[in-house]
Amino acid sequence: MLETDVLVVGAGPVGLTTSIALSQHGVRHVLVERHPGTSVAPKARGINARTMEMYRQMGVEDDIRAAGMPARFGGMILWAESLAGKEINRLTPGRATPEGKAMSPVTNCGCSQDVLEPVLRRHAEALAQGGIRFNTELCDLKQEGSGVTGVLKDQVSDETSPFRARYVIAADGTRSVVREKLGIGRTGEKDIYDSVNVHFRADLRPWVEDRPAALYLIEQPELRATFLTVNGADRWGFLVHSLSAYGFTKENLTPERCIELVRRAVGVAVLQVEVLGINFWNCSAMVSDSFRSGNIFLVGDAAHETTPSGGFGMNIGVQDAQNLAWKIAAVLRGEADASLLDSFEAERRPHALEVVGATLLNMQSFDRSKRQTEARLPRKEFLNERGLIFGARYQSLAVVPDGSNPPEVSDPVTEYVPSAHPGCRAPHVWLDNKGQRVSTIDLFGRGFVLLAAPGGACWRSVARQGGLPRMDVWVLGEDIHDTDQTWMAAYGVQDGGAVLVRPDGYVAWRVAFKPGDPGRALADAFGRIFARPVLKQAV
Ligand SMILES: Cc1cc2nc3c(=O)[nH]c(=O)nc-3n(C[C@H](O)[C@H](O)[C@H](O)COP(=O)(O)OP(=O)(O)OC[C@H]3O[C@@H](n4cnc5c(N)ncnc54)[C@H](O)[C@@H]3O)c2cc1C
Repeated sequence: MLETDVLVVGAGPVGLTTSIALSQHGVRHVLVERHPGTSVAPKARGINARTMEMYRQMGVEDDIRAAGMPARFGGMILWAESLAGKEINRLTPGRATPEGKAMSPVTNCGCSQDVLEPVLRRHAEALAQGGIRFNTELCDLKQEGSGVTGVLKDQVSDETSPFRARYVIAADGTRSVVREKLGIGRTGEKDIYDSVNVHFRADLRPWVEDRPAALYLIEQPELRATFLTVNGADRWGFLVHSLSAYGFTKENLTPERCIELVRRAVGVAVLQVEVLGINFWNCSAMVSDSFRSGNIFLVGDAAHETTPSGGFGMNIGVQDAQNLAWKIAAVLRGEADASLLDSFEAERRPHALEVVGATLLNMQSFDRSKRQTEARLPRKEFLNERGLIFGARYQSLAVVPDGSNPPEVSDPVTEYVPSAHPGCRAPHVWLDNKGQRVSTIDLFGRGFVLLAAPGGACWRSVARQGGLPRMDVWVLGEDIHDTDQTWMAAYGVQDGGAVLVRPDGYVAWRVAFKPGDPGRALADAFGRIFARPVLKQAV
């Protein structure tokens, strides 16, 4: 019998990231994946800057960048009748503008899923040695007592074995078996269009070198297709959209036919093309009606399925993992009441609804689901979703309101106003740490962090009082320096004030000024977040 604190189901990008996050919070867990290895299909490629911040905090950023595509391919999206033919339009995504780059110490990264997953796997395996099990399928599960029991099957020997876990995290994708077994429904639009993702090898450099782009959208009366840049040279993904509208079927899209379509989209009749894989998929925009049932949680595509128009699916999935891992760790350590876990759905489901809705509108604006005779360009919000990338605002028991209003934004999809309002992502500000330039983002990710304004030295001893979790304390002007003089305004505090940042980089609590009894104030804040009284003790 396998006994563990957390069983993670699925080693896609979300399951692997969940494992890394659990390891970093010291949670004993096992991850099971039914396949013998990670995905060989280049599906997701766009890792947005918010997700890269998270991977930076996890120590995975450099390896992802080293494995990913050359950065120059991230700055443009291009429409053409064919790669060799007439160009129709170019679009610079908001992330590639100076304004977009100023939001974060990191930039987005293009790294296709078949390249990303082995990097995540390596890190997950190094941190949870023996805990990542491929060829292992979850066949059954049920809630029992204070945990979950079920059956795993070894795909090589066909042997089954029981398991018991305190919690299960289902990262088992759009067709989640766990979601089905729990009877959790989904709301949204299903099977909007059918598509195929052809993974192929061909040297396309002659047509892309002088105009590097992340996507090359091809618009012909008889073919709507997209080249997905994988390495910018000889390895590509190729999506053919709305298969049935154009008479393409699983049967007639043979490797030979796919080669013919690639050649037609390149606009070159004689081109060496090798098909590496053909994956059929359907575009849906669905959100699970619940992200939790008892001790079982849904994350990633199991919880929400977005259209690919905007590149959010994997990004919001791996951010689910970051949101959930520290909460489970705090409950398992006995610091927090189990009701802290309710905040996972309260925070992530509204965000998923917003993202899924926005990517559906993106998709509809170029109307990928219908046959077209001429190119249709997307709405202006497409790839300008700075608000969705950085601006999620959580309202839950794990956030303590400070009586202020969140910043007003004219459009929550496109506009992000950096703010340390409780429930917002703690903004990026450059600081000086012993002569080294560091971002506030670099201070977060491992545990709670208390940032205190100048004159707030008292917070150091206050944070060490008994009953509180271990946290890092940085007093501005003493431990770390705000040479640009921007931190206080960005974080909305005055001398002696403080901001408590959660392990996932979101603001949990803020006091603009030093309160009369800082020890009581901080203990009360943790009492709210952890849903159990934290007694102030003598310091
Ligand atoms: C063409 C295309 C382009 C995309 N582009 C982007 C993009 O640019 N950016 C972006 O963010 N997203 C993008 N996406 C979406 C992205 O691919 C998904 O959101 C992402 O794969 C979800 O990850 P996941 O780990 O939740 O699920 P999956 O990747 O589906 O992984 C689920 C895993 O669970 C395993 N599993 C299932 N059932 C069991 C079981 N019973 N026992 C054990 N293991 C099990 C599966 O084998 C699988 O390995 C794109 C998708 C497509 C199709």
